Amino acid sequence: MNKLVGNTPMIKIKYRYRGIEKEVYVKLEQYNLTGSIKDRIALYIIEEEKKNNNLKDNMPIIEATSGNTGISFSSIGAKLKHPVYIFMPNWVSKERIKLIESFGAKVTLVSKEEGGFKECIRRADVLSKKIRGYRPNQFSNYLNTKCHYTTTGKEIESNLKGEKIGGFVSGIGSGGTLMGIGKRLKEAYPDILIGAVEPSKMALLTSGKISNHKIEGIGDDFIPELLDVKIIDKVFDIDDDDAINMARIISRDLGLGVGISSGANFIGAVLLGDNTDNPVVTIFPDDNKKYLSTQLTDKINLKKEFVSNNVKLISYETI
Ligand code: PMP
Repeated sequence: MNKLVGNTPMIKIKYRYRGIEKEVYVKLEQYNLTGSIKDRIALYIIEEEKKNNNLKDNMPIIEATSGNTGISFSSIGAKLKHPVYIFMPNWVSKERIKLIESFGAKVTLVSKEEGGFKECIRRADVLSKKIRGYRPNQFSNYLNTKCHYTTTGKEIESNLKGEKIGGFVSGIGSGGTLMGIGKRLKEAYPDILIGAVEPSKMALLTSGKISNHKIEGIGDDFIPELLDVKIIDKVFDIDDDDAINMARIISRDLGLGVGISSGANFIGAVLLGDNTDNPVVTIFPDDNKKYLSTQLTDKINLKKEFVSNNVKLISYETI
């Protein structure tokens, strides 16, 4: 299965922002087994925990997730004969629920009134004790960060072939992506800036604001245990509709169908790019197919203040 996860392509996008032409390096994570970056951590955690004897044959896997992690564990669990139980907030896209169910896993949805994301984690803990399941616990499991350090980060380093970069930026769900890749690239390029993207409506690192938002996959109600804020140089609070708009514009102008958090990451890269002359690196965590029932398929919003409406996408090439 290792051939179906990781070793994703990397592209260089040329764009213009406020009259200046710049470039962003982007790792395209939709080219993983189930179409997201989360296949990496699901496979890595399963393989490592089998070696550690913490995950035994046929043992149930129980996880709380905003979707992609659930899809990944359900798919890989089906192949490796582990029953999978997923606890998810009820405000995620319908496609997520259907995909997890299609892999034979059981989904339990939890509403805001019932306690939202934190309640998903609590219920997953309770069930795993009851049926003696394995809890990957992506928000606190160091294997999550280690996976990105040893796979995604390492790949990016070799994709770049020594090219200069000015920074790395990504959104925070579990924080594994930002911590693992951020740490690796900071070791290889000590002068780079590390940027974190969060939804402006769930601005936990800046104002402590907690409210509903539309950037699925990031901004999960709390600051994850894996996150070491000391590594972060800049935090970008991104407007939901700007992120959605950016994702649509990436599809329309470059023909790359990407998810909402990819739009947010691209805006983060443009804003971090304002602080350095060298190209910034970011991730497109998944594609647009899981969001066809959401506002992602609405018309482009022409609001002038949006960063997305001040970026001109020129072209991209694979590197
Ligand atoms: N974008 C999407 C679409 C995701 O599903 C996730 C994972 N929840 C992320 C971004 C953030 O990744 P991480 O958990 O590594 O912070």
